[in-house]
Formats: sequence, C-alpha cells, structure tokens
Amino acid sequence: MLRLEAISKIYRRPGAQPVKSLEDVNLNIEQGEFVAIAGPSGSGKSTLLFTMGGLMHPTSGDVRFGDTLLYDLYPAERSQLRLRQIGFVFQSFNLVPYLTAIENVALPARLAGKSVEASAEAARDLLAQVGLATRLAHRPAELSVGERQRVAIARALVNSPKLLLADEPTGNLDGGNAREVMSILAGLNEAGLTVVVVTHDPTVAERAKRIVHLVSGHVLRFRAQQALA
Ligand code: ADP
Ligand code: MG
Repeated sequence: MLRLEAISKIYRRPGAQPVKSLEDVNLNIEQGEFVAIAGPSGSGKSTLLFTMGGLMHPTSGDVRFGDTLLYDLYPAERSQLRLRQIGFVFQSFNLVPYLTAIENVALPARLAGKSVEASAEAARDLLAQVGLATRLAHRPAELSVGERQRVAIARALVNSPKLLLADEPTGNLDGGNAREVMSILAGLNEAGLTVVVVTHDPTVAERAKRIVHLVSGHVLRFRAQQALA
C-alpha cells in the first residue's frame, strides 16, 4: 500500500549546516499491517512519517501510495488524497481549541464535502466508539489529555482513511492513557486498518506487529513480531 524507495532528506537553511535526517530509507508497508517506527529522539522518525504521509517533500527518492507517486501530484491533489485516505494523529493532539469535540471530528468530513448532518453523525459515532459519547460538546481545554487524544483519533478516522499515521501519540500521556490509546490503535488494526506509529518508547513499539528501527536516519533492521494476544 505504501512504498518508500531510496528516501533521503536533507534540511538546508541559509547560513546553517545542512542536516541529513534520512538516508536511503527503503520501506514497504503492506495493507493491514501495524508497524512501529522506533528510535531515539532526533533519529528522523517524524521526518519519515511526514514524508510517508505526503506532508514533507523528500530531498530524493519516491513515495508510492498504491499506484500513485505522492510527490508527483500537484500540492492540491496531494492535500485531497491526504484528506480522504490518510489519517494523522500527533503527540500534541492539534485540535482546534474553540471547536467542540464533535465539531473537531466533523471538520475533515465537511472539508471532504459531506453534509453538515452526515458529518455530525459520523463524528458522533466515532466519538462513541472511542468512549466519548458523553463529551460531544466539550472543548479541548475541558477534556483530559487522554480524552483529547481520543478525539484526535476519531477525527483522523472520520473520512474512513486507508492508512493511519501517528507521531508519538502517547508522548503526552501517562501510562494508563498511553495503554488505552495503543489499545484503540490495535483494535483499529484488528478491524483492518493499516497503522504506522512512530515512538521512542519501546513499550509502545512492542504493541505493533512489526518494529522498524531507525538510527541516525538509517533503517537498522526489521524484526517480525507476533502480535501479543
Ligand atoms: P525524531 O522525530 O526522531 O525526533 P526528526 O525527524 O524530528 O527526529 O529530526 C531528525 C533530524 O532532523 C534531527 O537532527 C533534527 O534536529 C533535524 N530536523 C528536523 N526538522 C528540521 C528542520 N525543520 N530544519 C532543520 N533540521 C531539522
Ligand atoms: Mg519526532
């Protein structure tokens, strides 16, 4: 479903040393996989995830999403593909602070052209699915951090994406909330969704079915793993 071919990324800024953050990364994500990209801070995990998701142009190499070369698309086409086919979850939730939970979740559906009613219904269903049926009208500041991340997951799912990408989704959560978020992601994968999670936390990575280790912008090795029960 997703194929990275010889991806390199060099950050260049005038007057600063260029930073080589990814070097010759080759990676295949098959439909239905649950992959963790693990590595220390600064190893290039976020750069890799953003490149996978069409958010960041690599310096060289190709990203294929199905049959589509992501970075051959015009930016507006790439945005449309992202909106409809790729869900993103971030460490710091990135919810719109002045919108309620249901409005936050409904927003991408509205952007994809769904009616107000259909968007609200989809948002309500998804919020119920992540245990927030009683929090529809709360704004992010009125929710716990664990609840905020569950709203963000619901939002990522509202356009029924083929692929879910999460960048340190448990980075701001305590142990209990972190486990809950990972259980939700595991459940989504069980139901057929392809999930890629970036993390520096080995206990989070262990929840995935495959771990890709990233060190200094290089993929170290692949380790196949049985899913835990
Ligand atoms: P991780 O997510 O694993 O912590 P990142 O992908 O954020 O790693 O960063 C990889 C490397 O690229 C780091 O050395 C970081 O300092 C550098 N980097 C990230 N973003 C930028 C940027 N916008 N400009 C310059 N260097 C960057
Ligand atoms: Mg990062």
